[in-house]
Formats: sequence, structure tokens, C-alpha cells
Amino acid sequence: MQDKETQLTFRDFHFEDTLQDGLDSMGFEHPTPIQEQTIPIIQKGKDLIACAQTGTGKTAAFLLPILDKLSKVPSETTNTLIIVPTRELALQIDQALQGFAYFTSVSSLPIYGGGDGQVFEQEKKALVHGANIIIATPGRLMSHLNMGYVKLDDLQHLILDEADRMLDMGFVDDILKIVTFLPEKRQTLLFSATMPPKIRTLATKLLREPEQVSLAVSKPAEGVDQSAYLVYDKQKNALIKHLLKDENLNSVIIFASTKIKVKELERDLQRAHLKAKAIHSDLEQAEREEVLRNFRNRSLRILVATDILSRGIDIEDINLVVNYDVPHDAEDYVHRVGRTARAASTGQAITFINELNQHKFLQIEKLIGYEVKKVPLPEFIGPGPAYEPLVRKKQFNKPDNKNFKRKKKFNKPRKD
Ligand code: AMP
Repeated sequence: MQDKETQLTFRDFHFEDTLQDGLDSMGFEHPTPIQEQTIPIIQKGKDLIACAQTGTGKTAAFLLPILDKLSKVPSETTNTLIIVPTRELALQIDQALQGFAYFTSVSSLPIYGGGDGQVFEQEKKALVHGANIIIATPGRLMSHLNMGYVKLDDLQHLILDEADRMLDMGFVDDILKIVTFLPEKRQTLLFSATMPPKIRTLATKLLREPEQVSLAVSKPAEGVDQSAYLVYDKQKNALIKHLLKDENLNSVIIFASTKIKVKELERDLQRAHLKAKAIHSDLEQAEREEVLRNFRNRSLRILVATDILSRGIDIEDINLVVNYDVPHDAEDYVHRVGRTARAASTGQAITFINELNQHKFLQIEKLIGYEVKKVPLPEFIGPGPAYEPLVRKKQFNKPDNKNFKRKKKFNKPRKD
């Protein structure tokens, strides 16, 4: 830890007074490591690839230098486009921006779809009128761009936030199309929690001689009590209901791997009279916002979510995170567990590991650098699977699997 005297402060970046006033009023004094490293690069006008997760302060890392430039040279037109994977993230960035830019004259507009034709019309009006910074999800922005009234000729900055998530969600074509509407001469910043090869490929298409900043994958905070159960899928709901009997847990997020599981689990918990709501892409925007709002203000005790919510959304001080399924990426585990025990409070993270995902969980343990304790199942649930993480089990290799049989039949030599 640097001591406070030698640590940088935001004043070292020489931001415009109006922006510094916003930071002061929000109580932001010292930049986080990602801010310390990226803000000078952005101020120099260089393209940037930054590998940083939610919770590192990445939003301010890209917003502050852009807001500073716009405060120094005010603009009447759209200067910056921020593309994000989800509506929630668009709203969250816009809210952070409103705080920082409170004393400046910079205008912003989130464009994130959902709603009815009236909302589309409102977005259209606002787009025609112009806003300095547009924060948009790719699909919705494309719908507006195709109509021809969005003017992006003066755009100077393109920011892609949570780029890995956008590629996972299949937005790559939309992103490449959107870029054809933008001036070639611009500053492009790409933020991503992970850096798989497909992100590098996208970066070579969109960025010019980028500088790179990478923060080491953070380990779950010290205060998180992590544990795991070895459990068959059919035992998971009984186990989760048992765990939720603890009434001290007033804020719980359960992450499941698919929308179908999320919906089923919501129904099952509600049938057991537990205050649970699911959030997934089939909900209307207003419903999603209401669920999140209720969860944030603690009137909703249990949130069941697909992994889209595990990154990007800033909800603090959750008592318990349950991975109903082992997260797909090892980094996702760290993100999810990061929802609990923020700011030195304590929290719990519990993962359900079925017989097929033991190897995957071992990869997570390798990433975080230690073994997570395996807790025996309560007796009434019955025995779970044996712990054999080094044996990679695949469903289609099982002799009793239907697909396996079908494939065999298909391969039979034909009689003719
Ligand atoms: P982010 O990674 O952008 O989602 O930020 C995570 C949280 O950290 C948000 O609640 C921010 O308001 C907060 N934050 C970001 N930068 C700072 C900073 N330099 N000082 C204090 N809080 C910060």
C-alpha cells in the first residue's frame, strides 16, 4: 500500500474546476490503480486496451478524461459514444456520469431499448437534438442509426465497455456495423474484464497502435467466506431452500447458468414462500429496473440472475452469493464473489458443484490460488457425488446416454 502522502490525488490530473468540483462533492480523492494508469494515456489522446473488472473504478477511468476534454472545449454535437452490453450498465454509467458532470455543461443520453414505441420516439427526439455523450446498447443503437437521423460526424471518442461480454452476447456484427457510421479519425478505448483472442482480433480491427493496461485478476476479498457443496442437480433446490432458512441473510444473489433455470428457481422459491425475484432478458425494461431497485433498497431479499448480471452491475454489500452452477469462466467466479464483502465487510459465497463441473471448479481454485472448502451436504438431502476433480466427465461418454446410442445407430453400416 502506498502511504496517503505519496499517493496521487485527482488534482494531479489537472481536471477543469467544474469537473474537480463534481469529484469533490462525490468524495473521490485518490484514483484507483486502473484510473492512475489509464487517465494519462486517455488524456494524451492515445487508443487504449484496458483489462479491468467491475469494481476497479473503470467507469471513472474512461469518463473523467473525456468529461475533462468536453469541459475544456465544450461541444454542441455528439462527441463520445460508449457502447455497453446491457441496459443496466448503460443506466449505471449514465448515473455515474451525471454525478461527475454535475457542475459542467456536458449532456448525456442513455439509449438502451426496451419500452414501447413511445420510448423509441423519445430516444429519437433526443438523438436528433444531440447529446455530447451517448451510452448505448448495440442493437438499439443500430435501429436508430438505420433510420438516418443520428449524426456522428463530429465524434471524437468511441468507448467499448465490457467488450468480452458484448462478444459473448453475439454483438460483434452490430459493433462492426456501428463503427462504419463513425469518423475514422477518433480515439478508441476498449475495456474488457478478460482478454481472450477474439477480443484481440476485434481490437486490431478497431484500434490504432493502442497502449495496453492490464490489472492482475483480483482475488476475492479477504472477508469473503467461500465454500462449496458437491451436489447433484436434482438436489440443488432442496439445498438452496435449506440455506435460505437463515433469516440473517437479508440480501442474497443466486446466479444460474440459463434463463430457464433462473425462471424455474424463481417459481420454486416463491412456492416455498421465499421473497425471490428473477432478472433476465425476457423482462420488460421497467420490470428489470424495478427488481433491481427493490433488491438495492432491501425490500427484495433474494435476486435470481443469469450471469449477465455478474459483471458490470454495482450492487454492494450482499450477504450471500450462490453459484447455483459453477461459473463458465474462472474470472466470472471472482466477479460474482466480488459482489459480497465489499469495503471490508464480511460475506459468504457458496458454489454448487455437480459431478460434471468438478474439473471446471478446480480451474477456478487454480486461478484464485487456493482450495475452497467443500462442505458436507445436510443429511436429509442424501449423498452427493464423489469428489473426483481430475476425472473429466462428459455426459455424452456415458454408456446410458441417449445421444450416445443414437449416434451409434446412425453409424451402423447400411444394409443395401
Ligand atoms: P466501477 O468499477 O467503475 O464499477 O466502480 C466501482 C465502484 O467504485 C463505484 O461505486 C464507484 O463509484 C467507486 N469508485 C470508483 N473510483 C473511485 C475512487 N477513485 N474513489 C472512490 N470510489 C471510487
